[in-house]
Amino acid sequence: MTEIEKYIRPNILALQPYSSARDEFKGTAEIFLDANENPWGTYNRYPDPYQQKLKQKISTLKKVDHINIFIGNGSDEAIDLVFRIFCEPGRDKVLVFTPTYGVYEVMANINQVEVIKVPLNKKFQVDRGKTSRFLKDKNLKIVFICSPNNPTGNLLRKNDIDFILKNFKGIVVVDEAYIDFSAATSYINAIEKYQNLVVLQTFSKAWGLAGVRVGMAFSNSTIISYFNQVKLPYNVSMPNQEMVLNSLKQSGVYRKKIAQILAEKKLLITALKKMQLVETIFPSDANFVLVKMKNANEVYQQLTQRGIIVRNRSREVSNCLRITIGTKKENQRLINTLKKLSDEKKSIVY
Ligand SMILES: *Cc1c(COP(=O)(O)O)cnc(C)c1O
Repeated sequence: MTEIEKYIRPNILALQPYSSARDEFKGTAEIFLDANENPWGTYNRYPDPYQQKLKQKISTLKKVDHINIFIGNGSDEAIDLVFRIFCEPGRDKVLVFTPTYGVYEVMANINQVEVIKVPLNKKFQVDRGKTSRFLKDKNLKIVFICSPNNPTGNLLRKNDIDFILKNFKGIVVVDEAYIDFSAATSYINAIEKYQNLVVLQTFSKAWGLAGVRVGMAFSNSTIISYFNQVKLPYNVSMPNQEMVLNSLKQSGVYRKKIAQILAEKKLLITALKKMQLVETIFPSDANFVLVKMKNANEVYQQLTQRGIIVRNRSREVSNCLRITIGTKKENQRLINTLKKLSDEKKSIVY
């Protein structure tokens, strides 16, 4: 048993692999009468349970072996799987740095796992002093690190991520949902160096395929084999796999979209800086900005009434709205509306 397998729940370690009809057959054949499928149609066959064609493409793109790749129904599936693989309900704990992506806590609650919340410091970076003592907790199984972080938008310092990877023996999940918008190097390169590392990426943000629901996890082959064992057999549908394969053929479009979003982000930030009702614009390495308003709830309400929905994160970060970068037209509508609100501010208390 490898060092990291000691962190796997005993019932998961003991699982006998379920073998689907398509699993057992390895060669090439012309007639399939093994899976009770309908013989007619386009999507009449079950999809490849291990998404081999897609993994091959991702393998080339990310320069990582296919045995180090898990593909899920969104990266949210991978988050759910790490809970189910590593955390004993009612006993184990995970650690998150707040404010962060809400799904970690939602999944923890569903799986009856306690969440230790360590606040990020004023610059939204990890406070090592506050973190260290928790890393020694025997029941702590997973540390979630979101970088660039949602909703703050900033990358977390590499030194701090390395510190956690070295000083915590359990699983460290580095969620890189927004990495393609940043200049940072992915932690995928470190999955062999750190046997406890799981890196998450997704097709939902930079690739523009949120509706398709395809995400990725990268880790050593031992951890990936447990992902494969615990996941639903046909977790990514055939049309969804095809949609991603089609997008991967057009990587020029992907790069252009990212460049456009980053250019628009710059313009939006410039416009926001001039506004009375804006207090602070936090540095962003993602496709959104966290903006501190003089009165976020009021601005949120006013925007909503005018048909513009942003994310109100005031409860997590005082007076803050998280604004996703849209098209030029959408951003301009937002800017114009905010300007109007600024002008009307006599009638509204900011
Ligand atoms: C959007 C997002 C994801 C992506 O989830 P999918 O299930 O792949 O759509 C993952 N992590 C964070 C922090 C996100 O903001």
